[in-house]
Amino acid sequence: MFGFDDFKGNTPIADLRYNIEEKYNHFFPNGEAYLKGLYKKNKKENPINFHIDDEPIISPYAKNERINIQENFLAFLWCICFYMLWYYENTQIKVDYLANSDAREMQNLESHATQLFEWAMSLKTKFSSWNLRLPNPTPEKEPLSPMAVKLSLKTNDLFSRVTAIILFHELGHIYGEHSPLTNDEFIQCEIDADNFSNECVFNNQNKSLSEAQKSINILALLLSRGYMFFAIPRLNALQQNRHPNLVVRYFHLTNWFCVSDKEKWLTTVQCFAVLICERFCTYHKICLNPPSNSAQKMLTWYETELNHIMDLHE
Ligand SMILES: [Zn+2]
Repeated sequence: MFGFDDFKGNTPIADLRYNIEEKYNHFFPNGEAYLKGLYKKNKKENPINFHIDDEPIISPYAKNERINIQENFLAFLWCICFYMLWYYENTQIKVDYLANSDAREMQNLESHATQLFEWAMSLKTKFSSWNLRLPNPTPEKEPLSPMAVKLSLKTNDLFSRVTAIILFHELGHIYGEHSPLTNDEFIQCEIDADNFSNECVFNNQNKSLSEAQKSINILALLLSRGYMFFAIPRLNALQQNRHPNLVVRYFHLTNWFCVSDKEKWLTTVQCFAVLICERFCTYHKICLNPPSNSAQKMLTWYETELNHIMDLHE
């Protein structure tokens, strides 16, 4: 489809361009018409600029009515999705392909998830190529275990949704004709663009989606903000000038689920949101002991603790 064809890429991520497109349409049925409108306005330049370079990762941004999204950033994002999905699936009881596996296979997969995560972290400062012996978006081409293939394919699905939601955030800036001048205005624009992307996901939830699909949309929404915890270079970057503070922004999203029809997703939200916080703290070697009696208590507890950590690192 229009907007995605130009993305040829250097990494296996480029193979997912039609998956991203499919999820983009899934969430935003008028999306193609909207991109075509931008194309005309933009003197016939592709409204989505997938830029391919060998640089450290850059977060996506909208400029002059174009969305810029870097391939290396997408590789980083895929690895975070794989890593988080691995931990999440391990907390779930009915994951068939994990239930029937032996201990050695599980250990291998955990080691792969960790290696991918470490590679993703290294991309923040220096470009390097994907080690294709590790899980990746085209797993069938590589000698990987059946479990690694399965988790990679599930990651492709999750990743494509997360990427579509990130595109909606950027579209939210273009739709809203944002041109902030002061720091407060910048922050308000980010909140508006976040809300725009949240609504894209939830406007679509009424349709006849399976429960599993709805649940993966929730994970994708949480990761569309949660990945930022892993993208920052240091703890003091939790505080931002032109964006809402990351902790505030993240918990704005998790609290947003506590209203009306979204409430039935709370358990999924709480479990996954807690897991992201827990992985973030582990990465930064922050030793915490959350209460373990309920997911909601844990989440509230993390909100307080992370706010405290953010204040300490101002
Ligand atoms: Zn933004």
